[in-house]
Amino acid sequence: MGRLTDKTALVTGSSRGIGRAIARRLADEGALVAVHYSTGEDAARHTVELIERDGGRAFTVRAELGVPGDVHELFLGVEQGLKERTGETALDILVNNAGITTPAGVQPEDVTAEDLDRLFAVNAQAPFLIVQRALGLLRENGRIINISSGLTRFASPDQAAYAMTKAAVEQISLHFARHLAPRGITVNSVAPGITNNGSALFDIPEAVEQMAQFSAFKRVGEAVDVADVVTFLASPDARWVTGAFIDASGGTLLG
Ligand code: NDP
Repeated sequence: MGRLTDKTALVTGSSRGIGRAIARRLADEGALVAVHYSTGEDAARHTVELIERDGGRAFTVRAELGVPGDVHELFLGVEQGLKERTGETALDILVNNAGITTPAGVQPEDVTAEDLDRLFAVNAQAPFLIVQRALGLLRENGRIINISSGLTRFASPDQAAYAMTKAAVEQISLHFARHLAPRGITVNSVAPGITNNGSALFDIPEAVEQMAQFSAFKRVGEAVDVADVVTFLASPDARWVTGAFIDASGGTLLG
């Protein structure tokens, strides 16, 4: 029996990349997973297919985050999907994973107020409002995991704006951890380093070799490296960990 049997989970941005790996690992452990996506409907369906092929349970939910009405739309789908499958809308695990980065090649000097608005809307405001909205659904001893980035600790000037939004996400974990402790709900941040999310960049051996040098282990992370850490935090084994920043960067932050 898996560690998450009879649990329900929502993983935002699980149509691909790290989110897909998280959804698959949670489902492996027995959770029923809401696979959220924005534009990648086929990819989200494929995540569900992969989960079902492995004997798990999942369903897709579409909502573009960072636009008016986003959280309402997300939870309409989540509640409907849970109700159809479990007869209720209770949620045990929320993973705020969906995120966007500063557009490639944009120097800090060139980031506009519109770029900042968009980054904050998707990466910081949406996770905050999703946590807020999930509070009514989360059962006792629930789990909230917010995906941050090693870039809140490791300087990379062209990602300054993105890193600001991830610093904000970490604050959700700190403050809600205190707020939700009376209900046994833990809230933690996981910070990946450079992680193969299946994008074209990771098909270029020279680029991968260069990126690998940042990790103490001299390789890029695989999505499942991060997913395993998230799955631990989602499990009963992590009941005594809350408000924490967990480095899942393969030692990138060791310098
Ligand atoms: P990907 O770019 O591979 O996937 C992003 C996911 O988020 C997709 O499922 C996408 O959905 C969804 N998404 C993006 N924008 C929106 C939006 N506006 N509304 C709703 N959904 C959206 O991401 P990664 O797997 O690389 O990253 C996952 C998380 O990990 C992010 O928070 C990222 O910041 C963080 N991270 C990643 C690192 C890495 O090296 N990969 C390093 C450090 C942190 P769809 O495609 O359906 O539109």
